[in-house]
Amino acid sequence: MGLMELNEDSIRTNRVVIRRQWDELRLAVDAAIFPLYCTRCNHPQPNLYVHCGSRYGQVGTAKCCKCGGEIHVIDNDNIVNSIFINNYPSNEIFFSKLYLLDVKYLKQLGKEHFNNIKAALLELAEQDRFIAVDRLRTIVENEMNILTTGMKKYVTDERFLILPEDINRWIEALENAGIKHLPVKECKESSDISKKRGVLMGLFDKLKKHGQKITSENKNIKYTSNINLGQLGFMEQLDRDIVVISDDENIEIDRAVHMCISQEALNQTLQEFKRAKQKEYQFIQLPLGMAVDNVIQKTSFDALIIRGLTPQALIITKEDLMPIKDLIDSFCIMYAAARNRISNEKAFELMKDKVVYILGTLPTISMKSEGKFGFDIIKRKAEDGEEYESVKCFLTMESANKYNGGKSEITPVAVNQIKHFFGSIIIEPHRNYWVEFR
Ligand SMILES: [Zn+2]
Repeated sequence: MGLMELNEDSIRTNRVVIRRQWDELRLAVDAAIFPLYCTRCNHPQPNLYVHCGSRYGQVGTAKCCKCGGEIHVIDNDNIVNSIFINNYPSNEIFFSKLYLLDVKYLKQLGKEHFNNIKAALLELAEQDRFIAVDRLRTIVENEMNILTTGMKKYVTDERFLILPEDINRWIEALENAGIKHLPVKECKESSDISKKRGVLMGLFDKLKKHGQKITSENKNIKYTSNINLGQLGFMEQLDRDIVVISDDENIEIDRAVHMCISQEALNQTLQEFKRAKQKEYQFIQLPLGMAVDNVIQKTSFDALIIRGLTPQALIITKEDLMPIKDLIDSFCIMYAAARNRISNEKAFELMKDKVVYILGTLPTISMKSEGKFGFDIIKRKAEDGEEYESVKCFLTMESANKYNGGKSEITPVAVNQIKHFFGSIIIEPHRNYWVEFR
């Protein structure tokens, strides 16, 4: 129990509770992650907090980053549909309002869409009344034929500076679904990387105890990994912007790419290099997937070094990155295609032999006539208004599993095989670098 700042050990998600009341659909929020503000100086707190359980309604206390005052959080000792901050009645924060998680928005999607979403939710609720906000969002995305990027940030109440990722993306879905007059202000993405730290750190798993050091022999630096690939959880982070150190000309320093994920680590590394090498260094911003791609593809690199996650720099060698070579390559192609840097045809040419994962199965030669096959598709609308369907494909088994609400069998297939079989496919439909081949 208690209250914690969001960090790598506290991955929980906001959920909604689905209820049927007579024939009405009811949603309640069960918030696990939320922002806070100080009732003493009115300063919005820059970090998110994790609800780790309460006892008799007492959740825990945070400290104001500005005035040092206590921010005491109380809930209703049940599901967390609201909290009180410092126990002032005017400070009851209702999450249905703050997070725009309200049936009234679903109703604004139109009767037919609303009924389909309601049916899907009530069916889900027969197994589990608690569903993640991400799951609710994908149901709406599927029904409305829309996609979201996860890159937008909103403010729904000016007392708070930030909202959790899943909530920003939920609001983006409502917006993309065409709901007018949402009570939001859209914020610009901050370029201050220290603000991204919490988000980035949130998904890197348990990186605490790693003892080995860089074994350096003057110019012949030999790197040894002090973390496994699995612990880094790169799949969920590929399109996140990170910064790497550069010396004006390139990003190779001592045969490694040096990546920083906090402002402190960046400042410290810049100073360290300046002192050691007697010249100025800068930094450039790029998606994590591209930084990894550089290490894998270029012969001048032996390792990726990550600073700012743990007191000690984390090292992963080129050799240890090799298992995700194909994944990283696919990401870079999709990222370039999503930004129109390469054509869709070119992207297909580059990806056609790669393996992707579908939710379901294809017919096989040995299958008898009564054999069953089927897979998840997404309804799409072309620019001319024509409706069509695309097969959902994923880059990894883990990614497919994440969106496998129907618990289908997951099948690996070649991109050109599934494209040839069905005609239209969409790869990683829930990520902002999705690509479609039709
Ligand atoms: Zn304060």
